[in-house]
Amino acid sequence: MPNFIETYHCRTGTVNPNSYPVSSVDELYKCLEQATEAHDSGALLDIRVRTNFLNELHEQIVARKEDLYNLYERETSLSRSRFETEFERTLNQLRLYRDAASALEQERTESVLTDRIITKKPLPVGPVAVFGASNFPLAYSTLGGDVMGAFAAGCPVIVKGHPFHAGTSLLSSEIIRGTLSKLNLHPGIFGHVLDDGHRIGQALVQDERIKGCGFTGSFEGGMALYRIAQNRKEPIPFFAEMGSLNPVVILPNTENLNSHLHALVDSITTDAGQFCTKPGIIFCPSALIEETIQTMNARFNQAPTQPMLHPTIQQRYEMRLNEIQSTNAGEFYLKIDQEFSVPHGFMHTLNRELNHFETLSHEVFGPFCLLVEYDDIKRLESTLSALKGQLTTTIIGKNPEQSTLFNLACNIAGRVILSGVPTGVAVIPEMHHGGPYPASSDSRFTAVGEASILRFVRYVSVQKSHGT
Ligand code: NAP
Repeated sequence: MPNFIETYHCRTGTVNPNSYPVSSVDELYKCLEQATEAHDSGALLDIRVRTNFLNELHEQIVARKEDLYNLYERETSLSRSRFETEFERTLNQLRLYRDAASALEQERTESVLTDRIITKKPLPVGPVAVFGASNFPLAYSTLGGDVMGAFAAGCPVIVKGHPFHAGTSLLSSEIIRGTLSKLNLHPGIFGHVLDDGHRIGQALVQDERIKGCGFTGSFEGGMALYRIAQNRKEPIPFFAEMGSLNPVVILPNTENLNSHLHALVDSITTDAGQFCTKPGIIFCPSALIEETIQTMNARFNQAPTQPMLHPTIQQRYEMRLNEIQSTNAGEFYLKIDQEFSVPHGFMHTLNRELNHFETLSHEVFGPFCLLVEYDDIKRLESTLSALKGQLTTTIIGKNPEQSTLFNLACNIAGRVILSGVPTGVAVIPEMHHGGPYPASSDSRFTAVGEASILRFVRYVSVQKSHGT
């Protein structure tokens, strides 16, 4: 008898009626066998087949929108408007990657030398494993960027569905499978497995038939799987997008401080702060600290309440708050909302405390941030340099680009925001969503935007002599 995965509706505090069977190792091996067959038969090699497949998939996703919403809401408690935004983004990604694949195909280059002609063409790396995140059931999951990027590159994909939204993941899988069947395409182009632990996911990455991986999630999960991928007999590219603190620096010359602070608190509390780009640490000059504390406190008090995605996420969040509280490194300004009991707020501390307590420089996944007071820009620079790689760094103030911190921000982060907020990752060619380790496992690549499909492409040069 298989084990079953249950999902939760945190808005009502209930377990959802359906549960989903955990996949067996035999089921995983069948997916792997079929994915290899699909790849070897060149099932997605022809760009016209790929384009047609992605177009049809787009239609099928649109047709199942309400079914997707019903499960999405029940399994995550996220709002209708959040669903709409994420749904649009998911479709937008699909279209962008489809077009990027066509552009890549036309890019083939040829050099005519005196004695030979050399051409270069892109090829899919082979079957790809994808692990989606809990906080984006659509855009970073079974219908998400990594899957569409790998399809656009011509790769079969096996998804390990996230257990917190197992039903949404299975419905997404059904939509992809239905599309393949409607177009008479090889069923091995897509496989889906579920797991209530790490056995199936780890066996997937370990298997020599997998030739690349995309992962979105925590540092611990990403690195555990990365190490498996690198320690295989045949190591493979493993692209992990992981968590981030997303530092924000308020410069002493900042004007309209209140409106910046309101935007920051809104960015921290939207959807209960469950974003990898949520501002996690705000550096504020001593001269502005009193006003900042007052304004942030008032804004947190007015923040709308929102349940977290899953009881486990809430437990992990509360554990991290306890760890931070137990340092006694500063004063807490924390509210617990009556409706869903999710604490939200911040801790005011001093720059030097970051050196004493390592736990302060780790992500807290939820509606909380550190407010770190600094009195000297040079000391702040050394604190920022000591922070590890980040997805984003934000500088707020007058002429932030001319600040001495700008180059430093570019050195530590994949995206630098000038007088704005880091949440809201636009799916456009100019987007870089990644960053130096540990924000991602390979800072040269992005997980969002059309360049993300290059993670699943390899090139082959073909050389021929004149007259052959
Ligand atoms: P997670 O706990 O790492 O889970 C991601 C997936 O990996 C799940 O399917 C999980 O399965 C699996 N997994 C985790 N540890 C594993 C291990 N040791 N071996 C095999 N599989 C493993 O992350 P999450 O809870 O979904 O998301 C929260 C984190 O994701 C936050 O840190 C957030 O910042 C980050 N995130 C990053 C981005 C980005 O673009 N960089 C976007 C969204 C979220 P189980 O659930 O069964 O453990």
